[in-house]
Amino acid sequence: MKINIFSWKTVLDILLTRVAISQRNIRTTSIMCGLCQAEPETTEHLLTSYMVASRIWHFIGAWVGIRPIFTFSPRDLLTLHDTASIDTTKKKVLNGVIMMASWSLWKARIKAIFKDKPFDVLEPKGNIKSLGYL
Ligand SMILES: [Zn+2]
Repeated sequence: MKINIFSWKTVLDILLTRVAISQRNIRTTSIMCGLCQAEPETTEHLLTSYMVASRIWHFIGAWVGIRPIFTFSPRDLLTLHDTASIDTTKKKVLNGVIMMASWSLWKARIKAIFKDKPFDVLEPKGNIKSLGYL
């Protein structure tokens, strides 16, 4: 259920990233990405342009047997299954895997920022595997 709410907030672009927090005039220590510190932390960055996210989508695309996944918006990412040229079962799996991987990236970001734990790039893949998808 948490993943569904996360996905809904992602599609609506209302996740409280560091940039979103600063735009609400709430003081933050930094607007830079909690995972890579290389770019301002937006939902778009975390789920599409962040290098680890790109690799995850590439891996998932190859696994499902579709073209490499390149998206520029979180909404496109989370609705990709609708337009992918795969059967209905695979569409459901693709949607579930993308939601789980996105959720894992978000959780890793929370850990990195609030618990000062470095991001383990294998964690999203491990979470997907633990669901039995891979
Ligand atoms: Zn980043």
